[in-house]
Amino acid sequence: MEYKELNLPSRTIMTPGPVEADPRVLRALSTPIIGQFDPQFLNIMDETSDLLHYVFQTENKRAFPVDGTSRSGIEAVLTSIIEPGDKVVVPVFGRFGYLLTEMVDRAGGETYLMEAEWGNVFDPQDVITKIKQVNPKVVAVVHGETSTGRLQPLKEIGEFCRENDILLVVDAVATLGGVEFKTDEWNVDAVITGTQKCLAVPTGMAPLTYNDRIERILLKRKKIERGLSMEAQNDRKIQSNYFDLSQIQDYWSPDRLNHHTESTTMLYALREGLRVIKEEGIENRIKRHTKHGKALSIGLKAMGVELFGEEQNKMPVVTIVKVPEGISEQAVRQIMLNEFGIEIAGAFGPLKGKVWRIGSMGYSSRKNNILHVLGALESTLTYFGVKVNKGDAAQAALEYYLEVDNPVVRTS
Ligand SMILES: *Cc1c(COP(=O)(O)O)cnc(C)c1O
Repeated sequence: MEYKELNLPSRTIMTPGPVEADPRVLRALSTPIIGQFDPQFLNIMDETSDLLHYVFQTENKRAFPVDGTSRSGIEAVLTSIIEPGDKVVVPVFGRFGYLLTEMVDRAGGETYLMEAEWGNVFDPQDVITKIKQVNPKVVAVVHGETSTGRLQPLKEIGEFCRENDILLVVDAVATLGGVEFKTDEWNVDAVITGTQKCLAVPTGMAPLTYNDRIERILLKRKKIERGLSMEAQNDRKIQSNYFDLSQIQDYWSPDRLNHHTESTTMLYALREGLRVIKEEGIENRIKRHTKHGKALSIGLKAMGVELFGEEQNKMPVVTIVKVPEGISEQAVRQIMLNEFGIEIAGAFGPLKGKVWRIGSMGYSSRKNNILHVLGALESTLTYFGVKVNKGDAAQAALEYYLEVDNPVVRTS
């Protein structure tokens, strides 16, 4: 058996992650390795933390990545703050909400579940009513549910939690860097994101930020670990070493107390991805994601396919298309990939086989990608005998782009 050097085609990745990495990020990935305590590397850590503060829009003391995929950051936060018996309200409106409940459960917390039908989000007032009933220590919620393409409004929930001294933990894995997210303004105590979505970096790190209210719990639990304190019966040290934020924050503090070996290469990539965001400007970047998401929706509607879910709370970076009657969703994705080099995604749970999920995140959120995916889907559906309005999708998207980008006066 001969194992050849990799020679992969370049793909147009229009899934809700992983998406195409920015070419600058790919170049940064081949930067030579230096030691994790090399002064130059320590400087890279500081700069990355600064840039994360910018993207999270926070004055928090702490902002750093956990090494691992996005869920490693979510698990680090939940495992580090939830003690056995702690009550946690989890409003679930898709697959990733269930991931939060599972992590709460494994950390010994008591989950108080709210469930919305897939395709909907919660009225913040309903969440507040539930919080009043339960009086939890923590509310954990997803911001953008990639499984359903829906965005949960957080501002009112954040305000209520802060007034009542309840911690709000948010999974912003799919939204940060592409959809408006204001950590401090919305009173979010801990936020976790991922690299392979709107940040346009490969998967493998989970940037997060948290405030003093979270840090107080970490410090209390650290004392317990060292046998210095036992305030209440259920007080317990953080059971995970790898995900112990009290240790990871020491590693990211000026003392650099060694915890794990930082992934130097991934940090080069994350730093470059964040530098790209800083240069583009977070507001411009959000506008760009909104624009391309809108062009995609306009094109799909013009094509005559049906979009899934309430329009009002649609994520601008994920668009969900209903599979037309009698069509194999997998066969369509196969042709899109093999013939057009475009990857779109299938779905999970109750939506499996019924919808396609099209992402427009990070470096993949570009005009040529949108026009390419619209043309490819139109041809593929036509090939399978679906009646679509031929030519209308690209035309409608083109008109939208010309109107918003550089309005031109047409003579006819
Ligand atoms: C992608 C995603 C995750 C999980 O990310 P991993 O990097 O695969 O661990 C969690 N939450 C949301 C909302 C996501 O979209």
